[in-house]
Amino acid sequence: MILVLGCLVVTAALAGTVPDEKQVLRGRIHQEAGKPPVIQTAGQKNYTISGDKFTEAQMADPKLNGREIELDGYIAAPGRFDALKIFTIKDGKRYTVTYWCDICSIRTHMPGRCMCCQGETELQELPAP
Ligand SMILES: [Zn+2]
Repeated sequence: MILVLGCLVVTAALAGTVPDEKQVLRGRIHQEAGKPPVIQTAGQKNYTISGDKFTEAQMADPKLNGREIELDGYIAAPGRFDALKIFTIKDGKRYTVTYWCDICSIRTHMPGRCMCCQGETELQELPAP
């Protein structure tokens, strides 16, 4: 029953019908070998994050380990957060995480090698609109 309700809430959230329940989770990415990456909040709480493939890949990007980030989304269960959006925080401001290939002039939200030339991409954070 709880699972069914959870699905309904998430579906409604994606449709934008329950904006009141949207929450912001701020903390630092903590990656540890053999464990899913978590967000550690200032209150020393740990949250595992589920989200789209870009959010989950960024959570696991070693370049972002230890960084302060903010997630928009919903607390799905104790210690679990469903993220709709992920931002890095610099000087208190939100940034969108991108990866730039200088050779192909391709920008993506997926960490790792360039989808085109398979070269290294450069982490670039752009001020969030
Ligand atoms: Zn490339």
